Amino acid sequence: MCKVYLLLGGNLGNRENNISLALNYLEKEIGVICKKSSIYETKAWGLRHQPDFLNLAVEMKTDLKPLDILKRTQEIENLLGRRREEKWGARTMDIDILFHDDIIIQTKELTIPHHLIMDRMFVLKPLNEIAPNLIHPILNQTIDQLLKSCLDTLLVKQRIT
Ligand code: ADP
Ligand code: MG
Repeated sequence: MCKVYLLLGGNLGNRENNISLALNYLEKEIGVICKKSSIYETKAWGLRHQPDFLNLAVEMKTDLKPLDILKRTQEIENLLGRRREEKWGARTMDIDILFHDDIIIQTKELTIPHHLIMDRMFVLKPLNEIAPNLIHPILNQTIDQLLKSCLDTLLVKQRIT
């Protein structure tokens, strides 16, 4: 069994409902969700004038290989109505693979660890809630350390449920 961390995010449609549908699909298609962060509300990064995003991070146990996970998460994005148009554009669901055990992959199709983990508060905040002591296998720092040194100033608000 491998331990995988995913980041879910979306800013179109019924955002809460899309997240709960995505979590159901993930459990059906990929494995067991062991940990789940709160939902965080974030201003859209890169392109302005679009709705705020909801993001959350999950830890899963799975037997699937990284490329199979990518394939299945993309199918789930499509099932939830994702259209691939402009870069950074609004979307109903984006599922990114953050870590897959200590695996390092750097291909055109798949980069693991995800290349933006250390630069984006909307990734680090939810991830830090479920895995503060996880060590980034390339940077050799914990998520907590990366969060403390991250310079991203984008507002990321934890939703209290
Ligand atoms: P983004 O997540 O960057 O906003 P997309 O979700 O449209 O954009 O993804 C674009 C491409 O990124 C995908 O087709 C996929 O092949 C690639 N990709 C590379 N590394 C990863 C990763 N760790 N998780 C998810 N997709 C990835
Ligand atoms: Mg993506």
